[in-house]
Amino acid sequence: MMGPNLVAGFWARVSWSPRRAAPETPRFATQGHTSAVSAASAGRHLQGVAVSFGAPDTLISDGGIHLLLAGEIYNRDEVAKALGNASAAHGSDATLVLAAWHHWGMTAFRILNGRFAAILLDGGGRVVVATDHAGSVPLWLRADAHGIDVSTEAKTLAGLPGTPLDVAGAQLLPGGTGVHRVQAGTALILETVQGEVRTANRVYTWIPPVSRAAVGEEIAVGRVRRLLAQAVRTRLRDDPEPTVVLSGGIDSSGVAAHAVAHGGLVHSVSMGTEASDEFEPAKVVAGHLGTDHSEMTIHSSDLVRELPWAVWAAEIADHTILEYLLPLIALYRRLPPGPRRVLTGYGADIPLGGMHRHTEPLDLLDSVIAHDMATFDGLNEMSPVISGVAGIWSTHPYWDRDLLDCLISLDPGLKRRYGRDKWVLREALARMLPAETLSRPKLGIHEGSGTSSAWTALLLEKGVPPGRVEQCKAAMARRMHDLIVLRTRHPDEISFDEVLAATEKGRTRHAL
Ligand code: ATP
Ligand code: MG
Ligand code: MG
Ligand code: MG
Repeated sequence: MMGPNLVAGFWARVSWSPRRAAPETPRFATQGHTSAVSAASAGRHLQGVAVSFGAPDTLISDGGIHLLLAGEIYNRDEVAKALGNASAAHGSDATLVLAAWHHWGMTAFRILNGRFAAILLDGGGRVVVATDHAGSVPLWLRADAHGIDVSTEAKTLAGLPGTPLDVAGAQLLPGGTGVHRVQAGTALILETVQGEVRTANRVYTWIPPVSRAAVGEEIAVGRVRRLLAQAVRTRLRDDPEPTVVLSGGIDSSGVAAHAVAHGGLVHSVSMGTEASDEFEPAKVVAGHLGTDHSEMTIHSSDLVRELPWAVWAAEIADHTILEYLLPLIALYRRLPPGPRRVLTGYGADIPLGGMHRHTEPLDLLDSVIAHDMATFDGLNEMSPVISGVAGIWSTHPYWDRDLLDCLISLDPGLKRRYGRDKWVLREALARMLPAETLSRPKLGIHEGSGTSSAWTALLLEKGVPPGRVEQCKAAMARRMHDLIVLRTRHPDEISFDEVLAATEKGRTRHAL
């Protein structure tokens, strides 16, 4: 198995004086090979650690410019062609990004279509940080009088000593740690001068479109089919044995169908609990496509007790998103170890309004889609750390920049049509999947796996009144986030029962 060859995450400090001690190894949730990196230019020193899945080079340098790139680029051919350098398409992604930077400067980040986070030390002593269009690789930073720390995991910055400084243009996390989040689709240029950090420039590299295209059925369907095929192909990266996490829903089945169409052996895996699963629908798809399919049953009480791991990976305090991510994290943690590239059907419902299939009329459906697209940032649903905790690289074709642009901007009447949700996607997959898969109604991952009900059941069992379950979940999630991300505790040290007891005690105290 070839597996991915990339940097999955990094932590780096840029300062104006060389550190006497070697940088301490930060405690990443992402499991991979760690290597120290260092570089210097224009009186600035970069020292850091990259965590990688088999990547041969981590830090790339050329002409006094140094780049650390986590993740990968999907429009490599296009970029290489525009650079007039066909061979650039055959080097590493970081080399391509550096070439793009030399050519375009900040505009490079408007041209790249990828799943990445980057830090670049330019020749003039400035620090450039950038996310992909969707911020799908979360990127965090913290500044103090000694320099700027940048990391793909907030927890590695939260415990740093020194008084944190404000960084304009990035989003400060609550909690007093001074950690900021670099927003989705932005690139920042930061300047460090002794004791001060200044945001010299902030560039938006992508904004979800709010315009809509009323095109004919055939054109819309053809466009979605072509762009999905391309999004899957570029994410396979010639891996001879990719894995698709498959529910048998239309989104993941579409990804599996295109992966199989591109040849090679495709593994598929489906998870469920003793309470609920989607094994039959997934088996129908796997049988039709001929994937190497497996099923995994996880006991729901084990699943819920892994919530601290979901917080450790996603670094969020939103209990509904944690419920979506938990079954996937539990699945990834139980796959046989080894390098692995996973493709998911995650995220298709956001631009297509799949969660809002009963929302009438069409303009309301469209408003909800516009709202969801305006508020996804910071939820970290697409974070590679979700699978990185198991040493696995995951990528989400529906959030490919070109496909996403297309899906968002379709007339909502193409998303819901003839009484069917996600109509345009179902049509685009006609002939590739069995009829029962094409017409299968959406079922959320938290529903299909029984995750929401498992957490609820455990709380009811512990005596939480039904009317307070949601509130209790929210409070537990906030507490876990506080302990695990802001106070950098390891998830194995955090017990579900203790968090619940402390949450309930805090509530009682509050009520008195
Ligand atoms: P639909 O949204 O129509 O139900 P779907 O099941 O593919 O299609 P979601 O329910 O939104 O999509 O789930 C998001 C993604 O998470 C899926 O596309 C799939 O990759 C993964 N996933 C969801 N449920 C499971 C499961 N039970 N086993 C394995 N992977 C799953
Ligand atoms: Mg879906
Ligand atoms: Mg979804
Ligand atoms: Mg589903």
